[in-house]
Amino acid sequence: MRRALAFAFLFSAAVAAPDLACAWGRTGHAAVAQIALTYLNPKAAAAVDALLAVDDDDLTAKDFIARASWADALVSARPETAQWHFVDIQLDDPDVDAACGGQMPVADAPKQNCLVRRLETFERELADPGTTPAARLVAFKFVLHLIGDLHQPLHTADNQDLSGSCVRVAYGRAGTVDLLKYWDTIAVETIEPDAAKLASRLSAEITPADRAAWESGHLEEWALESFDVARTTAYAIGSEQACASDSAPVFLPKGYDAAARAATALQLKRAGVRLAFTLNRILGSTAPSATKDIL
Ligand SMILES: [Zn+2]
Repeated sequence: MRRALAFAFLFSAAVAAPDLACAWGRTGHAAVAQIALTYLNPKAAAAVDALLAVDDDDLTAKDFIARASWADALVSARPETAQWHFVDIQLDDPDVDAACGGQMPVADAPKQNCLVRRLETFERELADPGTTPAARLVAFKFVLHLIGDLHQPLHTADNQDLSGSCVRVAYGRAGTVDLLKYWDTIAVETIEPDAAKLASRLSAEITPADRAAWESGHLEEWALESFDVARTTAYAIGSEQACASDSAPVFLPKGYDAAARAATALQLKRAGVRLAFTLNRILGSTAPSATKDIL
């Protein structure tokens, strides 16, 4: 029921206002992709170029950075994919399996439509030489996008509020926005609205020690880390809001905006490094079987 409601909301939101369905919005996804480009190894970069070269889909421009938002552009035509962009780990029950519908037999794997399980599936398809070229291209574009989504804290958390999309918050002097969109776009673009400038600024902050720390773990660990940012920062709004469109907006506490910008910058940097790490592992490795150990 909860997911059906989210699905209906996302579908209508995607049609009425595409930005509402875009984790990080285009600016954040472009910044993640541009950070990742810095760290692709030559073999992975060549494989990415080869995939992009045969992709004639018109949903977005055809370069690596624009393709990072392709999966969001697909939602209007393929509304069933909207739920692939979220894993609703409950604030009061942080369990990825529960959020993904529990363990299912392999034959039922397609039913596991949460962000974590879809990413696992797309990574496997991208790595598998038996995948058809068309399916491999789709898998690549979903990996490119969903690793970004995994690092948007509110795409990994839920408090019975559609991941914050039915909580209205007042920010600055500008008015109100829902909490999910605040994290998708406002927190990103108040750091820097230009994606290229944002990426170069964040890239300059990434140290070798950061990369070493972030280039480890697996998708569930990254999801729980993102969830923890949601729990400690995104949901630190000082109010328990129900899903009521006519309720008064929550005034964000002092210091919330600065904490949100800091957390967003960190998550965008982690996403960029881990997108490259993932593509290097799958497309840039000389030992293809290594991917299976991690997945
Ligand atoms: Zn998305």
